[in-house]
Amino acid sequence: YASEKHVVFQTEVSRLMNLIINSLYKTREIFLRELISNASDALDKIRFMSLTDSNALASNGHFNISIVADKPSKTLVITDSGVGMTAEQLRANLGTIAKSGTSEFLSHLESEKNKGEQMNLIGQFGVGFYSAFLVADKVTVASKSNDDPDQHVWISEAVDDFVIAKDPRGNTLGRGTQITLHLKDDALEYLEEENLKALTKKYSEFINFPIYLWSTNFKWVENKSDAAEISEEANVKDDTEAAEKEPKREKVEVKEWELLNTQNPIWTRDPKEVTENEYMDFYKTLDKEPEAKPIIWSHFKGEGDVDFKAIIYVPERAPRNYYHQLQDIPHRIKLFVRRVFITDELGADFIPRWLSFISAVVDADDLPLNVSRETLQKHKLLNLISKRIVKKALDLFAHMAKTDEEKYAKFIREFSMSLKLGAIESSQYRKKITQLLRYPSSLEKEGSRVSLDAYVSRMKSGQNSIFYSTGTSVEEIEQSPFLERLLARGYEVLYMTEPIDEMLIQALPGYNGKAFANIAKGDLKFGDEDESEGETLKKLNEQYQPLTDWLKNTLDEHVEKVAVSKRLTTSPMAIVASAFGWTGHTERLMQAQAA
Ligand code: ADP
Ligand code: MG
Repeated sequence: YASEKHVVFQTEVSRLMNLIINSLYKTREIFLRELISNASDALDKIRFMSLTDSNALASNGHFNISIVADKPSKTLVITDSGVGMTAEQLRANLGTIAKSGTSEFLSHLESEKNKGEQMNLIGQFGVGFYSAFLVADKVTVASKSNDDPDQHVWISEAVDDFVIAKDPRGNTLGRGTQITLHLKDDALEYLEEENLKALTKKYSEFINFPIYLWSTNFKWVENKSDAAEISEEANVKDDTEAAEKEPKREKVEVKEWELLNTQNPIWTRDPKEVTENEYMDFYKTLDKEPEAKPIIWSHFKGEGDVDFKAIIYVPERAPRNYYHQLQDIPHRIKLFVRRVFITDELGADFIPRWLSFISAVVDADDLPLNVSRETLQKHKLLNLISKRIVKKALDLFAHMAKTDEEKYAKFIREFSMSLKLGAIESSQYRKKITQLLRYPSSLEKEGSRVSLDAYVSRMKSGQNSIFYSTGTSVEEIEQSPFLERLLARGYEVLYMTEPIDEMLIQALPGYNGKAFANIAKGDLKFGDEDESEGETLKKLNEQYQPLTDWLKNTLDEHVEKVAVSKRLTTSPMAIVASAFGWTGHTERLMQAQAA
């Protein structure tokens, strides 16, 4: 080619390609999903641009994706009329990975001991365009962008470099991208129409643009001269004779575009007519992790001050690394306006970070289309939608708590930390969220079953505090010497084992008028002490003064105070934190954070 340029792949790309080719062999059919999803992204982009730039579509007025398989040349060609790429974008997008941390991530994958995990992790990373090399030994990408006067081609055989050149065929696309896969000899099955149809159905059913396959169909046509004969003889009205005419119709092979998907977005349909499987399948378009499944969802309509349709999903599991990334949450909310995809980068202004584990599609009726993303994000209607979604999500959790205890316990195991974060951060929803929390307790150690409501409802008469103890595990708490006394008196104690619990208690003024009381802190009031107990304690204090003085002198600055206590039953002594001091658990936490 004229003006051809050789470029070496960024080393990360070569490493990623190697990994993909070696570890994803068994699921190599995903290449089609990846290429179609890129085509769909590119179409979303140009459609979005066209909302504010009326000229954007002059280069090509269509929004579609097409697939052509050619057996003689062993090629599979996927074309879209999306935004296209300039020569520079071809080089940058298909030759480098900009994501930070890629190198570390690849090293992790490459190490022998992570072999088993590879497939899952790569899937999560998003194999993307490079999955083309799972089935092709040579890939040609022709692309035309509105921002480049020329159409360019990118060609690679996946070794360690690629070529970019001006397309000698000129501008054949108008605008868009055409990917030609020169299939490997062991991947020729992907030239079969039946396979292509099945894969498109399996992975790309919910793509919002038409996907066409250039396919072979058989049609019955009537031979012209025969047809004349038939119509004349039709007057005879003889059944047997008419039947004999049948073979005169001829079966011929025709090639035509066949539409493979319906693009009737699931959220616009009547929830009664959408099957459970359709909801589960649709979820896969929102969650990048291939194995991810929803535990529950809600498909609803917002009406009144703002009209929209939405489906919100709660995943079965917290996304990988979820709790390490709360500051930098991956985007799981897709916003459409009247079916046009607008953005999946609404971020924490739209869904507070403590709720960022939900995925959703939101399709708003009244938002303006022709504004920039930034203006849109500040739109007051979006704010209203956001409030509705948060409320709906909380209702959904409450509904799950009421109707399916087992499911709810699973949910709590994964997301109680998020809920607690919510109760700390959101004064608006604190009450509602606190009702959703569940704790193990001295009465129900199995699972996390005790709500604060349940605790309060069985408090002993005269009991004013909600007793709790903190520790790294139920077992650790059970060995706490402070527990004995409360259990002996028949009090229930909540076991708080998550690091965030102590912060939460500090943010909570109490619950239903009852204060929280950490059993490891000084001056614990039970609420059922009687006068004589106080008297006895006074006497004991006097009696043991020589011992407590001696201990205080000996331990010196290591302790603040030594006192006779009524909290213990069988343990002879305990080290406690003062009412305003840190407990041992918090101190360990602070040490861990400082380390
Ligand atoms: P991702 O889709 O996660 O960004 P990919 O590896 O699938 O990663 O694609 C890399 C980039 O290449 C895309 O972000 C996009 O900029 C560009 N790209 C890929 N396919 C197309 C296409 N059909 N049209 C326009 N740009 C594309
Ligand atoms: Mg992609």
